[in-house]
Amino acid sequence: MAQNNPIRDMIWHNDGHELTLRIVKSELEIIEIKCPNDSTGDCWDEKEGCLVKWFISRFGMECNAGSCPATESMGLCWTIVGDIRNLDAAQLWFMPTNDETFSAWLTANK
Ligand SMILES: [Zn+2]
Repeated sequence: MAQNNPIRDMIWHNDGHELTLRIVKSELEIIEIKCPNDSTGDCWDEKEGCLVKWFISRFGMECNAGSCPATESMGLCWTIVGDIRNLDAAQLWFMPTNDETFSAWLTANK
């Protein structure tokens, strides 16, 4: 499957995940990852639970593909690329819901 435009070709889940952030000196720390879903959510993996939490707790802001003003609590949309049956071969990306470019695109594609 060709993925010429990484944003457009992905399925983005806008289901209310949220990060609580804190700046400590030069570092941006993730204090909490809130998952609005239980085992019925799109993010749910039977073995690992919420995959948004799973990826972000391992890779942190490396999963971030967007930019937004610094806020204490940041809503995000997320997508997974690759084979979710093999998480080592998959990658989760998230976008702040108030990333300017992304939110404009999201609104236009509702
Ligand atoms: Zn979740």
